[in-house]
Amino acid sequence: MKPIMRKPVPHITRSLPQRRPLKIYAFDPTRGRGLGNYMTCQVPYENLRPGPAGKYLAVIDYDSSNKVYYRPVDLDHPAILLGSGLDPSESDPQFHQQMVYAIASQTIDRFEQALGRKIRWSFNRWSSRDEADGVLRIYPHAMQEANAYYSRELRALVFGYFPASELDPGDNLPGQTVFTCLSHDIIAHETTHALVDSQRDFFTEPTSADAPAFHEAFADLVALFQHFSFKEALLEMIKRTGGKIYRSSVEAEAAQSPDGPAISAELTTDNPMVGLAKQFGDAMGMRKALRSALGTPPNSRDLDHVTEPHVRGSILVAAVFDAFFSAYVRRTSDLMRIARSARLALDTADDLHPDLANRLAGIAAATAEHFLNICIRADDHRGLRPHPRR
Ligand SMILES: [Zn+2]
Repeated sequence: MKPIMRKPVPHITRSLPQRRPLKIYAFDPTRGRGLGNYMTCQVPYENLRPGPAGKYLAVIDYDSSNKVYYRPVDLDHPAILLGSGLDPSESDPQFHQQMVYAIASQTIDRFEQALGRKIRWSFNRWSSRDEADGVLRIYPHAMQEANAYYSRELRALVFGYFPASELDPGDNLPGQTVFTCLSHDIIAHETTHALVDSQRDFFTEPTSADAPAFHEAFADLVALFQHFSFKEALLEMIKRTGGKIYRSSVEAEAAQSPDGPAISAELTTDNPMVGLAKQFGDAMGMRKALRSALGTPPNSRDLDHVTEPHVRGSILVAAVFDAFFSAYVRRTSDLMRIARSARLALDTADDLHPDLANRLAGIAAATAEHFLNICIRADDHRGLRPHPRR
C-alpha cells in the first residue's frame, strides 16, 4: 500500500491578542455576586511587568501609613492569564492592584476611542518624542484615609483605605476596612481627572467656581456612563425596573409577603446604575451612594449659591443624565408600545420578555456610549489653543 504523503505543517505566525480579560467588581465589594457585580472586562492588551506596569500605568503598592510594600501581581503569569486574572477579593492586595489597573486602562481606552488619538499625560507634555514617556503611577493602598485623588506633582492616582462607620455603616460591617481602590466609580473618577489634565495646559486652574465644579461633574459623568457598558448589570436592571432604568430604586427579586418582607429577596434595592460610589457613601454613614445621576431637580437659582465643587457639579450631571434618559425613552418608545399592545405588563419584572430586555439593553448601552463620546469630545474642543505637539 502506498504510504500517505505527509505534508509539513505550515508555519503560522500568530499576532498578539487585542484584548486582555480581567475580572473586576462592576460596582464595589458590598454588592456581592448579585446584579452582575462579578464581571470580566476587556482591556487593551499590552505586555506587562509585575505591578502591573505597562505603557501608561504603573501600579506601585506602597502603604505609607504602615511603611510596607505589597508584592506586585504578575498578570502575565500563566496561572493568572488562564483564569482571566485573579478572582475578586477584598482581602487579596494583588486583586486590588489588578482592579485599579483594569478600570484605569478601561477609562483611558474609552477616551482614546472617543478622541481618535493616543493620550499623553500632562507631565509628558513638554518632553521630546525621543524621551521615554513617564507613566501615571497608581498607589492602591497609599494611606489610611477616607480619600482618593489625582496629583500631577506626584504623577499619581492615590487611593486610601479606612474603617467604615461603627454606628451606621450601611451595607458594610461596622468598622470594616473600606478600600477606595475597590470602587469602580472612584477609580474611573480619579483617572478622568488625570485624563482631563492631559488634554490641555491650565485646564485645571480654578478660574471661577465653575472650573472645579466642571471637573468634578465630568469625572462623575465618565464613571456613571461606564456603568451602562456592564451588560449583565444593565440587563438585570432592565428586568427589575420593567425597562425604566432611570428609577432610583428597583423591584424586589421576589413578590412581598402580605405581612411585609420576610427575606432579603423581598426588599426593594437602590439602582446601582445611577448611584456613584455606594460603599463609600455607606461607610461614611450616608446610607446612600456618595453622589447620584438623579435627585438634583432643575432649579435655575442653584447656580447663584451652590459653590462646593461636587454639589455644583451635580447640577451638570443631572442635566446630562436628564437628556440621556429622555433620549433612551424616545428611542425605546416604539418597542414599549408594541410590547404594551401585545399585553405585556411592563410594570413587573417577571413580564418583561427576554428579547425585549435584550433590545432595551442594546439601546441603553449604545445611547450611553453616544453620550459619553459627546461629553469627551465637547471637553476636548473647549479651550482656545490646540494641544502642543512636538
Ligand atoms: Zn474629583
